[in-house]
Amino acid sequence: MFSLCSKLEKENVNSLVESTRDLCVSKGILMRKRDGQSPTKTYMCVPCSLLPSPIPKDGFQLLTFLQPHINKLIHDVSQDDEFMSAAFKNVIKVDDFTKRLYDIYKASKASGKKSLDFGILRSDYMFQCIADKSGKELFVPKQIEINTIASGSVKLGSGLSSVHSDVLQYAKIKELTAHLPKNESLSRVAHGFFTAWKDYGNPNAIILILYNENKPNIFDQRAVEYAIYDLDEHIIVRRKTCWELIASIALSPDGKLFVDDEEVAIVYFRVLYTADDYTGEQFWDVRLKVEMSRAILCPSIGYQLAGCKKMQEVLAKPDVLERFIDDVDVVQKLRSTFAGFYELEMNSDGNHAVQMALTNPDLYVLKPQLEGGGNNIYGEHIVTLLCEIGNDERRCAYILMEKICPIPLDNIFVTASGHQKVQAISERGNDVIENYSAGHLLRSKSHEHNDGGISSGLAVLDSPFLV
Ligand code: ADP
Ligand code: MG
Repeated sequence: MFSLCSKLEKENVNSLVESTRDLCVSKGILMRKRDGQSPTKTYMCVPCSLLPSPIPKDGFQLLTFLQPHINKLIHDVSQDDEFMSAAFKNVIKVDDFTKRLYDIYKASKASGKKSLDFGILRSDYMFQCIADKSGKELFVPKQIEINTIASGSVKLGSGLSSVHSDVLQYAKIKELTAHLPKNESLSRVAHGFFTAWKDYGNPNAIILILYNENKPNIFDQRAVEYAIYDLDEHIIVRRKTCWELIASIALSPDGKLFVDDEEVAIVYFRVLYTADDYTGEQFWDVRLKVEMSRAILCPSIGYQLAGCKKMQEVLAKPDVLERFIDDVDVVQKLRSTFAGFYELEMNSDGNHAVQMALTNPDLYVLKPQLEGGGNNIYGEHIVTLLCEIGNDERRCAYILMEKICPIPLDNIFVTASGHQKVQAISERGNDVIENYSAGHLLRSKSHEHNDGGISSGLAVLDSPFLV
């Protein structure tokens, strides 16, 4: 693997950085600036890499192949009440957030309601370098997690591919644009909404985007909305915060969901995926109401639970994938992307995993059942936490995962106000709607950071360069 930095003429870097920023602004690769209470809304270009990052072509193709299978797997898991119940049995004893989600899942199952499922999934991967028998370096994709709710950056990912294509041209290495894979995630996601909306069967029913006004990624959500209009200008897309929804929601006796007296075909969740989003009981009431309705939920609470870290650990156990997937080739390929998982249940395997983590904390990541970045525990913090929990059931709220350490490559990160040379490691994601692979998203961060989100400022948007 090599860095594209070596292809740049040093004296061109400053002007390329400037061009990258301007390209981002003109192509709408923007996010809202966090500016406290100021009533004026300001925006900036999304932090991004100057150059695309090399990603092995065969690994990229493997992940594109696997994505529809992962999609079906998550769907089937979410329908399997017995399997879900066994997976979360001990987690819900000690993790109140997961328990509340699970209670709504059970209530929705018990009601026997029928509605269509629609998911936008993104599986995230890092490439681990291993040596084969002959000592040759192989770059193997390892799954970090499966996002089943609020999988963002649909537009930003496809937009940055186009920025990088222009940057390579400006850097006079246009021939390298042939290595940039096509990324149609925005139009494919919009197509998914259109199909689901049509399947709901009422041309007057609306698509509702539920959002959090404090999140900076407004344009990514707006872009999905505009791309839906491009497909059918008659579709009505409304945006509401949770508070606005609480004030306007109604459920008809036959399970139809109404908001301000308009029937809702699809609810698209860009909020209510973390415990922090539920600042009062009303939020849980509204989630239950929505879940009990016949509206198509993107995603259902079953999908959200099937995307929990605990489920990754359970699916990685021997013989479990075979319960859901008949094709042995698919099982073998999917399993090859799984990192090591070590259960922390109250049994001898759990005790053994705790000992391993205490002895070599830098080899593992300890994860609670949370989404949104910044929640994972690394290094000495693992030791502190496990010692504090002691031999207590609270450890069942976490999973222990092998830490993946990709090889860092030189790159330059461009932000609204400057640029920085870094040794970058990349994380690749795949989006899926219904049952197709829609596109990809690459994020990179400096190898010094453990956890990286774009909006938290630790990671940048990137695009793959297939080698
Ligand atoms: P979240 O749902 O909060 O995004 P993730 O499991 O995706 O949680 O972890 C957040 C970040 O932490 C990832 O984007 C990745 O950079 C890093 N990370 C997570 N798991 C691992 C791992 N097993 N090895 C190395 N880094 C990891
Ligand atoms: Mg993540």
